[in-house]
Amino acid sequence: MVNPYPDTFRLRRKIKANFHTHSKYSDGRLELQRVIDLYSRLQYKVLMISDHDVFGGFVNADNKGLTLIPGVEVSDGGPHMLQVGIGDKIKPDPDRQAVIDAINNAGGYAIMNHPKWEPGLNHWPVDVLLKLRNYLGIEIINGNCYHDAGSAEALDVWDAVLSAGKRIWGMGNDDCHFTHDVGICWNTILTDDPSPRGILHALKRGSFYVSTGIEINNITMKNKAIVVTCRDADIIVAIGEHGCELAYGKSGSITFDVEKIVMPYVRFECYGRGRKRAFTQPFFNQDSLSYKPVPKTTALRIADVKSISDIKTELWQKGAAVTEMISVKKGVSAEDSTRFCILYDRKNIYIKALCYEPDTSKLEKSRTRSIYSDDSVEFFFDPGRTCNEYYQIVVNAAGNVEVLKNTPHTLCTIKGLVIKAALKPRRYEIALSIPFKSITAAYPAHNAWGLNFIRNRTGLKRDSYVWSWTGTYNHLPSRFGVLEFDQ
Ligand SMILES: [Zn+2]
Ligand SMILES: [Zn+2]
Repeated sequence: MVNPYPDTFRLRRKIKANFHTHSKYSDGRLELQRVIDLYSRLQYKVLMISDHDVFGGFVNADNKGLTLIPGVEVSDGGPHMLQVGIGDKIKPDPDRQAVIDAINNAGGYAIMNHPKWEPGLNHWPVDVLLKLRNYLGIEIINGNCYHDAGSAEALDVWDAVLSAGKRIWGMGNDDCHFTHDVGICWNTILTDDPSPRGILHALKRGSFYVSTGIEINNITMKNKAIVVTCRDADIIVAIGEHGCELAYGKSGSITFDVEKIVMPYVRFECYGRGRKRAFTQPFFNQDSLSYKPVPKTTALRIADVKSISDIKTELWQKGAAVTEMISVKKGVSAEDSTRFCILYDRKNIYIKALCYEPDTSKLEKSRTRSIYSDDSVEFFFDPGRTCNEYYQIVVNAAGNVEVLKNTPHTLCTIKGLVIKAALKPRRYEIALSIPFKSITAAYPAHNAWGLNFIRNRTGLKRDSYVWSWTGTYNHLPSRFGVLEFDQ
């Protein structure tokens, strides 16, 4: 686990900062100097004026003791984002990756603003945030959005992005346009260097937390336990992958044991009176498999066959593509062997799963619905790697089958799907054949697919094995492995 906070948390200077404010240089109602005066009165030490696509400048302003960070809110042409730490206006290219790259090249940091602003709650859709690279974080709270359409809080968006294996920080900004926006939320930065350089360095390493009114007194990580102390909190909640609440701490403190955690991160929310809360940054588990690149494999091209039954054992063996599975419970290589062979011809893709089992009499295989609760194999396909629409075929050891199209999960049928199940002395086998034309219009030869396999072991092991690690939730198509088609 990586602790973003310094070991000497308690002794460090705590600097109150807001990185998102407007002035009359764009659509703010307040003069730039008035904005600075208001923040100075509330004991802020750092302020970034971030007018829309214009660097208003503050050269002639009286800083009133504040460190002023140069910045702009890049707005035209797409969802809004902050360029932090650079004054020069970056071209608001509709290709937001180009904007991020330009900000980074100029030595600044990119923060994605108010992800759930506007009625659709979708200013920054999760799938867009998953595809973009090299931004420092997102606004998890945007003060101005409390009295505008949409949601001011985007903690769920944050968890969705973190769970897919991205490491980004959460920021809380007022997005001040009016007097009543001043001081809704802020970032408390831990650094002894209040210069712009020191502030930016602390931001980069995540050495700050977000507050709407209470202060965190201490954060430490010792002997594989994280301790968060927030005396004004009634309850402190540890949050993990996909926003799951993992543990609770009463009386202003929580001790969280990280030793056995396979999740990519854990973060903490402190709840005080009313809406007063504080949010730590995530502690990243650098050993988590969520940070490993997804595996790749290749389907072997064969001469056309009439039916899947015509494929000889030797040919299946040639198409052996996946032999290494990971235990979901333990996050390490699964001890009992599972092998997948993948072949294709002009019309179908053929897959055979060989599931070795020391005692086949213990297999559970009587279900006809919710088949994944039996000893079963789940095949996930995302033709075209949309990371959005994909198929899930679940077959138990008896050959009962359930086909779903995701998302949302909907039962469906695939025309021409053939399933063969066989029970052998020390294994069970499932073979299937899927006509390309039933699941995708294009012949696959030049397109990689998203692919994943899950083997559910119910009878003997009470565990599941997975090929490409998706964490505790299988439905994460951005983490599926890649299937290429041998020519
Ligand atoms: Zn905005
Ligand atoms: Zn704004």
